[in-house]
Amino acid sequence: MAIVELRDIRKSFRMGEGELEVLHGVSLSVERTEFIAMMGPSGSGKSTTMNILGCLDTPTSGVYLLDGREVALLDRDELATVRNGMIGFVFQGFNLLQRTTALANVEMPLLYSGVGLRERHRRAMEALARVGLDDRMRHDPSQLSGGQQQRVAIARGIVNRAPILMADEPTGNLDSRTSDEIMKLFQELNEEEGITIILVTHEPDVASYAKRIIHFRDGVIISDEKNKNVRRSVA
Ligand code: ADP
Ligand code: MG
Repeated sequence: MAIVELRDIRKSFRMGEGELEVLHGVSLSVERTEFIAMMGPSGSGKSTTMNILGCLDTPTSGVYLLDGREVALLDRDELATVRNGMIGFVFQGFNLLQRTTALANVEMPLLYSGVGLRERHRRAMEALARVGLDDRMRHDPSQLSGGQQQRVAIARGIVNRAPILMADEPTGNLDSRTSDEIMKLFQELNEEEGITIILVTHEPDVASYAKRIIHFRDGVIISDEKNKNVRRSVA
């Protein structure tokens, strides 16, 4: 069974008097342990699709099945539980709380899941160690480089042990060398931990780490192919 399935998703936004349809029937099926990159020019509907996949927005029509459950039929509490349990997020701008240690930032999703203090510490330290930041746990974001901040955000994204990690332009604010390090980390999390990764990027170099590449144009998927030349970082 697919962990994520979109069936003929359409999305319109209200624009003044009328409606503007920006997704015109997107269908997509993702199995556990896949690593997919969604590519396409600016305005092609990547983030709109990602927001629907992340249950941050709802489609105008079509069906979204998350781990076999139809998202539209869940009530608010069920949706929050399913989303927290199933999906971790990483954003372009890191979205870390300032003047808050890396450790406290990573603990945040566990707080919402009702995990106790000691277990929160233990798991957050484990996640920070996984991303190579054992020695930066007590640092604030302002004391960390962009790449380190994105690692903290990735640790926060995996701390709930959700099977899916979603990332919208996670290297958009990073130089190319740091981007490569971050993409290598996503690749490791996919291959070693079995985390399903769904990534949005407009950069071919970044997408080349994924096992499958999907191209959007003007609100539809125009290609969906296995990446026959998965990039391996030499570092
Ligand atoms: P991408 O991430 O591929 O750059 P988006 O999914 O953000 O593209 O946007 C797709 C289209 O939807 C664009 O034309 C954008 O202007 C429009 N759009 C996105 N969000 C909104 C919104 N909240 N209201 C109106 N139009 C929107
Ligand atoms: Mg976008």
